[in-house]
Amino acid sequence: MVLFCAKCPKYAKRRCKACHISSAHYCSKDCQEQDWPEHKFECASKSSSDIDTADRLVRAAHRRRLPHDMDTLKDYGFVRAAMVDNIHELMDFWAEFIVSLEISSGSIRNWRRDGILCQIIELGYNETGRASRSQAFKWFQGHQWIIDPRMGPPRNLGQERQAVDARFRLWTGLPEVAFRDHDAVRPTWSQNKRTCYDFSSQVFNHFALLPPAAIWIDFGFCVCSNGRQEKKLEDIYKRFFELHTFEEFCSARENGTLVSLIDPLLPAFGWRKRTELLDVLQNHSSSSNFKLVWSLKAAILSDFPPAFLQEPCKPMLREYGFYNVRTADEAKELKRLYRRLFLDANVRPLKLHEVATAGELYSFANYVLGFGKEERALFGRLLRKRAADSPAHCSSTQELNRCPWEVLQYLPSNHYH
Ligand SMILES: [Zn+2]
Ligand SMILES: [Zn+2]
Repeated sequence: MVLFCAKCPKYAKRRCKACHISSAHYCSKDCQEQDWPEHKFECASKSSSDIDTADRLVRAAHRRRLPHDMDTLKDYGFVRAAMVDNIHELMDFWAEFIVSLEISSGSIRNWRRDGILCQIIELGYNETGRASRSQAFKWFQGHQWIIDPRMGPPRNLGQERQAVDARFRLWTGLPEVAFRDHDAVRPTWSQNKRTCYDFSSQVFNHFALLPPAAIWIDFGFCVCSNGRQEKKLEDIYKRFFELHTFEEFCSARENGTLVSLIDPLLPAFGWRKRTELLDVLQNHSSSSNFKLVWSLKAAILSDFPPAFLQEPCKPMLREYGFYNVRTADEAKELKRLYRRLFLDANVRPLKLHEVATAGELYSFANYVLGFGKEERALFGRLLRKRAADSPAHCSSTQELNRCPWEVLQYLPSNHYH
């Protein structure tokens, strides 16, 4: 039986002692340790109660993507950072500190509990001689209050919030009461106007957009390959909002002309994913041309929150092989496969869409990742193209019972919110 390392293209020589899944095989102790921030979430030796916000932060740091659950965002300063438009700087800082100083979640957890996190960070940078070279550390020194809740903010944030509120009100042209109590007014709005309002309010307030939110997909954040790019896209929208009114924004999205208004802004921001971005804006999730690969990416990055499982026969799960899954371990293997494609191999989602449509998912994944013998057997079955005449939606109860999507539900579920 030949297996490859889950972390690199070498042959696997060791495996996680608790797990039987092929995605927990490694070439070396090094690769096993490097993979632990990810594997901990799926390891049979860990129950969901073993996972906390420190684990989520460490995983986010290794992925270089913002954590997407509210507890982690609160515990590690992201909520405070958002108040001053520094959420991405904070992410860069955590990524550098945790990855380059090889900090474990256990350490982070204890330091935070003991209230010594900021001192340890200072110490860590000074003792390793990184303090003078690191941009992230310089940023940290000026913003410690973001990480340490006992420190007060250096300036009056209340006033800044009010200024943001006022700017947003001015831009939308909506009366104050509508802003403060907009739930009362919203029912009279069209779905499109509500979406535009929610989205622009987040951008004005510097809250980063996160998967699995539908607006993360619909406004193109799903095409970004990392947090830096997402920040750039936010900046593009900020520029757009300077140039256009709220009404113009709403009607452009309604009429499908948003693409032609956004497109001219891209070169000034050095935007490289033009095709992908325009494709998503043109074919957002309520359009009939929506590409399921974007839901897949959102599900993979956010660990399949319940929203992705509640509709038993979601076409995305079918298209990407999750209906062929028989056990929870197989579901883990398949999730891991897509994670490797998106995060490690940086495969373009539109390419994945193309090969899925052509029924070539298996040969493509094998070409990119190089399967071992056992993986060839497993993924050969999981990624096989379903018969063209199989129903697009399960209708009968019998069919429902056969849908192995429910297997996914047995996976640890408290890893997200
Ligand atoms: Zn390896
Ligand atoms: Zn394990």
